[in-house]
Amino acid sequence: LATRLNLVELFSSVQGEGIHVGESTLFVRLGGCDLRCAWCDSPGTWRPSANAEIEITRGSGARRTQTNPLAVDDVLEAAQALELSRHRWISLTGGEPLLQARAVADLAAGLRGRGPGIHLETHGLAVAALERVIDVVDFVSMDWKLASDVRRAVDPESGVATPFHATHAEFLAIARTAAGVSIKVVVTPRSDDRELDEMAAHIAAIDPKLPVILQPVTPFGSVRQTPGAARMLALAVRLSRSLEDVRIIPQTHRLYGAP
Ligand code: SF4
Repeated sequence: LATRLNLVELFSSVQGEGIHVGESTLFVRLGGCDLRCAWCDSPGTWRPSANAEIEITRGSGARRTQTNPLAVDDVLEAAQALELSRHRWISLTGGEPLLQARAVADLAAGLRGRGPGIHLETHGLAVAALERVIDVVDFVSMDWKLASDVRRAVDPESGVATPFHATHAEFLAIARTAAGVSIKVVVTPRSDDRELDEMAAHIAAIDPKLPVILQPVTPFGSVRQTPGAARMLALAVRLSRSLEDVRIIPQTHRLYGAP
């Protein structure tokens, strides 16, 4: 496939967050993001990357560098070299992978039937792009961003952000047509209860059985604190009044230093 994409890195590891935590995963991290989350642990992915870092042998951590953009075929070849079929999932992540929808669609189509399920990790706002790829994706892990915590790249520093709920709801309506879907919300000490209630109402109106993961923020960048256990547990109780599958799952890869 001649489609080209901007790749930040490709490596084998283990899923560190969400409902597939602990499962073997090959990560394909694409460059570019149109959001600015205060806690973002990969600000290097906000802009397309000049070079891609590609793991050479599965589990070695040793990487080679290749100049961007890469052809989809090159990415497929690099994935095969990392024992692709031995993974439970291949995660198309970022940055925001749906900013390169055509490449994601071609990559996912090329990866299908080679073993791992196709796992899309997304900020959950690129509705038109999701429509282009939904048929070749097995699982959508979408974020639900809170305007109390997240800005769009185009928002002025101090400006009031537009709520994301309506776009997320539209996105979820399409995402749930995949074989699997989960919704993740990162909770910081600044997260607003009313906004979380609005999120729950939107999700419940679509399907109250969908798994909703509350992820206490891992401090990074300008975010120095994480909400305590009491806050997280109270929030789970609050949301479980309208949602049937609320889970608290912190990031695990950062605990043991995995990439
Ligand atoms: S959406 Fe993801 S990559 Fe983009 S700023 Fe937020 S955490 Fe970072």
